[in-house]
Amino acid sequence: MNWPGPRDSYAAQRNDIDAAIARVLESGWYILGDEVSAFEREFAQFVGSVDAIGVGNGTDGLVVALRACGVRPGDSVATVSHTAVATVAAIEMAGARPLLVDIDETTMTMDPASLRRTLDAAGGAQAIVPVHLYGHPAPMPEIMAVAEAYGSSVIEDAAQAHGALAAGRPVGTWGRAASFSCYPTKNLGALGDAGVVTVMDAQVGELARLVRQYGWRERYISDIPGVNSRLDPIQAAVLRVKLGRLAADNALRRQVAARYDALLPAAVQRPTVRDGFEHVYHQYVIRTDDRDDLAGHLRKEGVPTAVLYPEPVHRHPAYRDRVASDPNGLPVSEEVCRTLLCLPMHPLLAREAVAKVAAHVADWTRKRQ
Ligand SMILES: *Cc1c(COP(=O)(O)O)cnc(C)c1O
Repeated sequence: MNWPGPRDSYAAQRNDIDAAIARVLESGWYILGDEVSAFEREFAQFVGSVDAIGVGNGTDGLVVALRACGVRPGDSVATVSHTAVATVAAIEMAGARPLLVDIDETTMTMDPASLRRTLDAAGGAQAIVPVHLYGHPAPMPEIMAVAEAYGSSVIEDAAQAHGALAAGRPVGTWGRAASFSCYPTKNLGALGDAGVVTVMDAQVGELARLVRQYGWRERYISDIPGVNSRLDPIQAAVLRVKLGRLAADNALRRQVAARYDALLPAAVQRPTVRDGFEHVYHQYVIRTDDRDDLAGHLRKEGVPTAVLYPEPVHRHPAYRDRVASDPNGLPVSEEVCRTLLCLPMHPLLAREAVAKVAAHVADWTRKRQ
């Protein structure tokens, strides 16, 4: 059985990608420049944002977005504990104090009631970072209402959700800014590290552009303190090619998901899609008690699975006993991490492969009855 990955995505567009890379090599221009500006324009158009700013990776994108939105050292920033540790690392890289919020059981994204409790206990927050985990958007209408009530900026972590819609509106257009990762396995993947920030306010965009390069407005003179996190023009050229296929790839991911939905046994819990939301299935995540046993069974049958993530961030050695969280605890995050399993997901995953995975899961549930 063939489990497609980033190499297969490259092979599917090899000629165009090779030509794009050769164009940059021949141009003699290897930092920022036309290729990066063109990708920024094209990505902003894809998302429907006011502007886009290419950065070195998705983690840096969050740091740049937080700083451009006015988050300063010592400020508090609320996010979920059930996320890539990158989200929380970025908040601390910006000098801020993370506040960890629980998730909603059905969509596995930020729970607005837990967000309110956490903000009340902490005396508010400068910013809120909802995470569109697995490609399903966080409950943005509710989160925007909380942000308004508490006077917080919203910065979306859209690393796993290029092209997803929340209540009919694209992710990356809800908050003041959003960060998208273009890590090779993401829905829009580069051939190395890359990321892009979208903004809904031209002034925030201007600040983000300053922050990504030492705060330079004029070369060598820093207007504000910044960092070095530029998008590489070779990666920008690759991403321009891949952006042309992103919508079609997301549609293929939805087809794979629909097949899993139809074929998996009732005993495992399928992902839920909220009404009016569009999921882009960065991951297809099922839930079951005895998850480790199912993962072992699938491994024996040659099916690769993953657990994203095995522990919520508040239980990592680096953060536990140190980072503030919902005063009621984070029971849903803990339960979800114990029971989730990511099945193979890729736009090029064959029909037969999906059927085979579902059949192995069904075998496992029958054996356990
Ligand atoms: C991948 C990811 C990031 C970090 O992106 P990098 O490009 O790897 O720095 C941040 N948040 C989430 C939810 C991610 O999945």
